Amino acid sequence: MPELPDVEVFKKYMDSTALHQNIEKVHVLDGAILGKVSPRTLQNHLKEREFTGTERQGKYIFGKTDADEWVVFHFGMTGFFKYYKDDSEQPGHTRVLIDFSNGYHLSYDCQRKLGLVDLIDDIQKFIEEKELGIDAFSDQMDKDRFFDLIKNRRGSIKSALMNQKLISGIGNVYSDEILFHAKFHPAAEIRNLSESDIGRIYNQMRKVLQTAIDSQVDPADMPSSFLLPNRDEDGECPICDGTIRKSTISGRSSYFCEKHQQKN
Ligand SMILES: [Zn+2]
Repeated sequence: MPELPDVEVFKKYMDSTALHQNIEKVHVLDGAILGKVSPRTLQNHLKEREFTGTERQGKYIFGKTDADEWVVFHFGMTGFFKYYKDDSEQPGHTRVLIDFSNGYHLSYDCQRKLGLVDLIDDIQKFIEEKELGIDAFSDQMDKDRFFDLIKNRRGSIKSALMNQKLISGIGNVYSDEILFHAKFHPAAEIRNLSESDIGRIYNQMRKVLQTAIDSQVDPADMPSSFLLPNRDEDGECPICDGTIRKSTISGRSSYFCEKHQQKN
């Protein structure tokens, strides 16, 4: 499932391909993916417009048009973008297709239809409606802010990291990765964590997100100390001689090292 680093890579991809190109036509191949907007409204509002920039918050991308509207993209479990020229390159589960006057197309592909495409006029209002927390990678998310958000929560640190209303962008895979490097068990209880423990988790959160983005979220380009390319039950821990275990925590399949991650 695309999480913050994946979506940041999609954002950069959109920035480097689809901006400042005249939109000739929009095809909605599956209206089930749309939010409140109708296929006709989306088509009419984007025709003869162009994208002028993008924003990201958590797992959402907002593409701004020169009519000061925003197209929202969420990638659900399986979504991605593809920008291409030759029709034979159209991905097999394209739900929305944007044709540009330069002959190129931007496909929003989402095999399992759990994503979202919508048209909005106000990002802030959208964020409030979705009750999205501060983005985990934004400048506003400094160590003090992180500590204030986490300190009085009940339950496990993994469930707090994945709570989009608290901190937006982190899901199952990157919460495991952060806790793997911070050396806490995913089920570690927040009430047993000190301020310095939470500071350590914050530092690893920023570092893991930056590293994943820098490696274009390709596991083959991630450091060998990363859990992500080693998410195998009973596999060898890449940083100690422990064994990787899998367990259901906060309703998700969680991977951790049984040796170096403290349960507290
Ligand atoms: Zn280990």
